[in-house]
Amino acid sequence: MRANQDLRDMETPTERTVDVLVIGAGMAGLAAAGALQEAGRTVVVVDKGRGVGGRLATRRVGGATFDHGAQFVTARSARFAEVLEKARVAGAAREWCRGFSGQRDGHLRWCGCGGMTALARHMALGLEVVSEKQVRALRQSGGAWQVAMEDGAHWLAGAVVLTAPVPQALELLARGEVGLLPEMERRLAAVEYECCLAVLAVLDGPSGWPMPGAFAVEGGPVAWMADNQVKGISAEPAITLHATPEFSSAHWDQDRSLSGQRLLDAVRPRLGAGVKNFQVHGWRFSKPMEAGLEACAVVRRDPCLILAGDAFAGSRVEGAALSGWAAAEALGVAARGA
Ligand SMILES: Cc1cc2nc3c(=O)[nH]c(=O)nc-3n(C[C@H](O)[C@H](O)[C@H](O)COP(=O)(O)OP(=O)(O)OC[C@H]3O[C@@H](n4cnc5c(N)ncnc54)[C@H](O)[C@@H]3O)c2cc1C
Repeated sequence: MRANQDLRDMETPTERTVDVLVIGAGMAGLAAAGALQEAGRTVVVVDKGRGVGGRLATRRVGGATFDHGAQFVTARSARFAEVLEKARVAGAAREWCRGFSGQRDGHLRWCGCGGMTALARHMALGLEVVSEKQVRALRQSGGAWQVAMEDGAHWLAGAVVLTAPVPQALELLARGEVGLLPEMERRLAAVEYECCLAVLAVLDGPSGWPMPGAFAVEGGPVAWMADNQVKGISAEPAITLHATPEFSSAHWDQDRSLSGQRLLDAVRPRLGAGVKNFQVHGWRFSKPMEAGLEACAVVRRDPCLILAGDAFAGSRVEGAALSGWAAAEALGVAARGA
């Protein structure tokens, strides 16, 4: 019923026509858009959120600043290392540490200057990003993609790179009755994500945690805790806790403030100060479980529709970038072959 309604809604006039539409301004979408624009394509990025970054997320609460999604990035590939180096030179990223919980393992962890979203904002420089624009459905319309937005607008795109988490991406395709090859459908439908409850707590004094101010926690229900002031992004003492996937899924539908309180109680002896206030953020699609997919999924070649994101090339920020670049390359191949 809903799919039919979506298709009928698509009969309204087109508001905007774009060469390539990238859906999602997280790392995958920004990497894809940057590479495509560099190759001479005209690209527009849309995101339902208020800013760029997706799970590279920073939130301000008064004088406190929290990284509540990705905590750091690492570079295993030369291409991503180059991105980070450019971001460092531009003042958007810096080296944070080489290990946590007092263990220096030698691997360099980078963070955004002033918060992780700084890295996304750096990647977005020079790109046209339209925020607070949520895509509701995609439908093939001759040699293009008709894109229905939640606000009722309709866009027409010559090609689409879709970087929403896979279950959400499949929903957009289903609403526009975009069929997938059975094997691709089976593999994509099997992609699962952990969820994560994140607590953002303002303290009434310094935590006293040593540099770099972050710990992986054993035994649950907290998996990770970080002091954003020691990290160097918050003026006020502000800690981020990430619950384990087990605790997060068991408490997903329960009262968030009670769950937040339980998580804070679990680490209270280590806090070093009292909690002034806290809020809880739920990441429904936190990290994809390894699914053994290609670096991106080419759903159609003409008109081109590609799925990308961290489910494809590694469940971390670098994996999202690699997938975005793979999508841009696949699009180039498709465009040249057309
Ligand atoms: C709590 C947590 C901790 C993490 N820690 C780390 C870490 O320390 N290091 C690390 O490397 N990785 C970490 N990760 C993983 C990392 O954040 C992700 O792998 C990476 O950011 C994913 O990027 P992406 O572009 O694939 O997806 P996203 O960042 O999720 O971007 C997808 C974008 O699509 C947008 N979107 C979705 N649907 C629509 C729609 N219908 N219309 C318009 N826009 C839409 C969303 O708003 C979003 O901005 C962590 C993740 C979480 C949640």
